[in-house]
Amino acid sequence: MTFDPRQGSGSLPIILEDDLPVIEEFATTDTPPGGVLEREIRLAELLDMKAFREVCASFVDLYKIGIKIFDRDGTKLVDIRVGNGDWCGYIFAHPTGRHECTGLVTKIKQFNYPGLEQGEVVEQHCFSGLKYVIMPITYGGDLLGRVIYGPFLPGDLRSPGEEVTKWADFDPQRLWSYGDKIRRAPDEMVIKILTNFRGVVDTITFVAMKALMTSQLHVESITASYNELSQANRRLRESFEKLQELDRLKSNFLAMISHELRTPLTSVIGYSEMLVEGMAGPINEEQRQFLGTIKEKGESLLELIGSLLDMSKIEAGAMDVHPSELHVPELLEAAKTYIVPQAAKKQVRLVVECEPGLPQLMADRDKVKQSLINLLGNAVKFTPQQGTIRIGARLFVGPRRKNAAAGRFGAPDERFVRFDVSDTGIGIPADKLERVFQSFYQVDNSITREYGGTGLGLAIVKRFVEAHQGEIWVESHEGRGTTFSLLFPLEKPRTGDVVEAPRF
Ligand code: ADP
Repeated sequence: MTFDPRQGSGSLPIILEDDLPVIEEFATTDTPPGGVLEREIRLAELLDMKAFREVCASFVDLYKIGIKIFDRDGTKLVDIRVGNGDWCGYIFAHPTGRHECTGLVTKIKQFNYPGLEQGEVVEQHCFSGLKYVIMPITYGGDLLGRVIYGPFLPGDLRSPGEEVTKWADFDPQRLWSYGDKIRRAPDEMVIKILTNFRGVVDTITFVAMKALMTSQLHVESITASYNELSQANRRLRESFEKLQELDRLKSNFLAMISHELRTPLTSVIGYSEMLVEGMAGPINEEQRQFLGTIKEKGESLLELIGSLLDMSKIEAGAMDVHPSELHVPELLEAAKTYIVPQAAKKQVRLVVECEPGLPQLMADRDKVKQSLINLLGNAVKFTPQQGTIRIGARLFVGPRRKNAAAGRFGAPDERFVRFDVSDTGIGIPADKLERVFQSFYQVDNSITREYGGTGLGLAIVKRFVEAHQGEIWVESHEGRGTTFSLLFPLEKPRTGDVVEAPRF
């Protein structure tokens, strides 16, 4: 217990109880079902208890009558006493007094105190002659708590209550002498004080309730949005998992179908070759031409199946990289040789430019060669007659393009073998440049499109390059030509080199 420094010049000391329950303000963020409008609000969560106690203290200071406030469940929120310490202490020291006093306090605290639920102000006499007035605190007809005002000496009390005079070893006169310190208050005065106090409490409760409702409704609407978002998120995750599963099934299906198609197709090509060579008897010119077409179409079909198989292997994560030391000029020649027939047929010039003295490249020969062949095949396909295709290799020292573009700090002097395949063909519109690396994407995807293909070639090249921690990019001018560039690192990436993980 502490003495209130604000006790002023009056002779009656005001005592503030400092062992009041600690109230967690607005601790109920987990709103029960039904929402804030339907749940029971506790006074303690509604009010700013510190400010409310100060209001009570100033009333006590003014009228020198104590105030206790209980929450609806009997939790004591405010207890400011004034003047009755000696009186009550003397009674409490007596066994009968202690018993009676405890009974009275329990009665006052009880939840269903008669009349309070109906909003009435009720009087409670203490057996010692003092008096209390109990006032309900309500909001919208609901009982939130109660104010116990007192004790005070009733205006007409001239001696201690009759009860105490019956007790053995108890001096009623001594008790009466302690009454000097207790405020004497006629009923009219107490009613006036309480009417004022009720006005203040009602205003505070109303404002606090409004703030609580607003904040709780806000919390509820945020919670509702959060729940909606969580549900959407869950649905999204489920769809994503389903899609992943479908994607896996698609890859397996592609792999299986491609494999099954390859065998009969190889026979078709083989048998048409044998027929052309006259192994099954002589054939005339027209038959030779027809067989030539069967063989040619069979071969492009086989190529397509090969691409599908490659792609499905990549997507199933079954791509292995088998590095070996590669002699770059020899690699360029091999790729060129493969493409020469197509280039010759289209009368397109092929130029190979290899920087002398290039170091050996540690990479998967088949994949690097396949990458170059895919790029050369496209170059021939999309370049009109008399055009020129260049395939070059040189040493490239510098930062990775992705690091440089993103302003990241990567090794500024990493060494690569850089391949460029350029043509003087139709070019790619600027807004389509990045998309050409997506699977099945073709700039011209109309049914009447002029150029054949599957839209898988570049996607495969990109995966092959990334499997080597390399980079690929394209530059193009519509109607003037295109250059695809590949970087294959000469050394393994070091710590600090920022490398995007290959996507398979
Ligand atoms: P495909 O060639 O089988 O259609 P690719 O993945 O190899 O598939 O290429 C995708 C698309 O990129 C092509 O359909 C074409 O529109 C465009 N493209 C690729 N290379 C070139 C090039 N050298 N010149 C113009 N367009 C190109």
